[in-house]
Amino acid sequence: MALVNTRPHALMLPFPSQGHIQAMMQLSKLLYARGFYITFVNTEYIQERLEASGSVDSVKSWPDFRFETLPDGLPPEHGRTSKLAELCRSFADNGPLHFEKLIDKLKHSQPDVPPITCIISDGVVSFPQKTARKLAVPRVSFWTHSACGFCAYFFAPLLVGKGLIPGKDDDRCLTNGCMEQIITCIPGMPPLRVKDLPTSLRHKDMLEIVTSEAQAALEADLVLLNTFDELDRPILDALLKRLPALYTIGPLVLQAESGNDRVSGISASLWTEETGCVEWLDCQKPYSVIYVCFGSVAVMSDQELLELAWGLEASKQPFLWVIRPDLIHGDSAVLPSEFLEKVKDRSFLVKWAPQMKVLTHRSVGGFLTHSGWNSTLESICAGVPMISWPFLAEQPTNRRFVSGVWNIGMAMNEVVRREDVEDMVRRLMSGEEGRRMRKRIGELRDESMRAVGKGGSSYNNTEKFLKEIQMGLI
Ligand code: UDP
Repeated sequence: MALVNTRPHALMLPFPSQGHIQAMMQLSKLLYARGFYITFVNTEYIQERLEASGSVDSVKSWPDFRFETLPDGLPPEHGRTSKLAELCRSFADNGPLHFEKLIDKLKHSQPDVPPITCIISDGVVSFPQKTARKLAVPRVSFWTHSACGFCAYFFAPLLVGKGLIPGKDDDRCLTNGCMEQIITCIPGMPPLRVKDLPTSLRHKDMLEIVTSEAQAALEADLVLLNTFDELDRPILDALLKRLPALYTIGPLVLQAESGNDRVSGISASLWTEETGCVEWLDCQKPYSVIYVCFGSVAVMSDQELLELAWGLEASKQPFLWVIRPDLIHGDSAVLPSEFLEKVKDRSFLVKWAPQMKVLTHRSVGGFLTHSGWNSTLESICAGVPMISWPFLAEQPTNRRFVSGVWNIGMAMNEVVRREDVEDMVRRLMSGEEGRRMRKRIGELRDESMRAVGKGGSSYNNTEKFLKEIQMGLI
C-alpha cells in the first residue's frame, strides 16, 4: 500500500510574467526547504517557456514538487506582457474555472499528494481566494511588487477621489505639467510627483484592475511582501494599520538560497541564461563594469536604443548589456556596425544573463536598470548602486525610492539622451556621488543579510507566518 504523504501542501499561483514567477519560485523554494509539498501552477504558455529554457529541469525531478498548468485564455500568437491589461483580464476571466477543476483533480489524486493546506497566490491574482474559502484553508496573498508600489496601489482610491488619477498622459515623454504635481496624501509615503506613481494607475483600464486586486488583500488571511522592515518602515507602518496580517519576508533571493543545497541556484528563467558573460567578467577589473539590463517586459524605441548605445560608448566604461530579442518595439534590436566595432574590446552582449551571478561578481560596479522590483532587490543584496530608467508598472515609484529616499542610485530623465547616459555612467562608476551610493547600498546589503539571518526581522516573520499556516492558527 502506498504511504500517505503528510507534508503540508502549498499551492502556488504566480501572475504569468517573469518577475512574478521568479519571486514565487523563491518563496516555493523556501517552503520546500521547510518541508512543504509544493504544487506550482503556471499558465500553459509560461510552462512551455520554462521547459524550453531548461531552467526548471532539475526542479522537475524533486520529489514532492510538481508543476500544474492552466490556460490563460489567449491565442498562442498574443503578445501577452506587451498587452498587459488583456492578459490580466483574460487570466481573471478564464483562470477561476480551470483553477477549480485543478483543485478537484488534486483532491482525487494519489495518496502521495497530501491535501492542500494553503493557497498562496500572487497579489494581482485574487480569484483563488474564493477557492481557499471553500476548502477552508488559509489564503495567502503574496505581493511581488515593491512595498512602495503596493502602497500606491492600495491607497489609489484616495488619489482617484482627489482627481489625480487616471490621467491622459500615458507615455514616458512627459511634457504635461500635471505630471510634476506633488502628492502628499498617501499614508507612509514621502512626497511624490504624479509621474512617480505606478504607470498602471495612470491608465483607466489598468487602474481598475490593480485597485481591485490591491483591495482584495483586505480579504486575505495573510499578506506577504518581498522586502525587509529596515528598508520600508514608514510604509509598512501605514499598511499595517489596514492589513494587520502583513509580513515582510524578503529579500527572498537571500532567504530562498540559505540552508538547503538542493534548492540553491535554481532560477525560473523564461530565457536560456548565457553564462559565458561570467567568464568575460572574470577578466575585467574590480568594480569596472556597468551591467545594463531592463528585465523581461520593458520595450524601448529604436531611438532610445541608439541613445543608450552611443552613451555607453562615450562613457569609455566596460559594459555587459542584456538585449532581449523583444527589447525593441516591432523588430529585433539592430546596433550599428560602427558602434559594435568601437566597443568590441570592452563590451559583452547577451540575450539573457544569469543576473544574480552577474550582480555579485566583483567586476560589476554599477547597474543601469529598469527598476523592476526583483532587479532592485537583487542590486541591494549585491551592494551595487544603480541608474534607474523605469518603463512601466511600479518602476517609476521604485526609481523615486532608489534615488530620492534610499540614495542608492541616480534617476534617468524621461527623455533619454546619449549625453545623459555618458554623464551618469561616469558619475556612478568613478565620481564621488557614485562612491557615496556604493557605501550606502553596501550598508543596506548588510541590513538585508541581517534581516534574513537568524533572529532578523524577515527571518522571524517567516517563522511566524509558517507557524500560522502549519498550525492552522488563522
Ligand atoms: N533576469 C535574469 N536575467 C536577465 C534579465 C532578468 O535573470 O538577463 C531576472 C532578474 O534577475 C529578475 C527578473 O528576471 O529576477 C526580472 O524581474 P524584475 O522584477 O526585475 O523585472 P520584470 O521582468 O518583472 O520587469
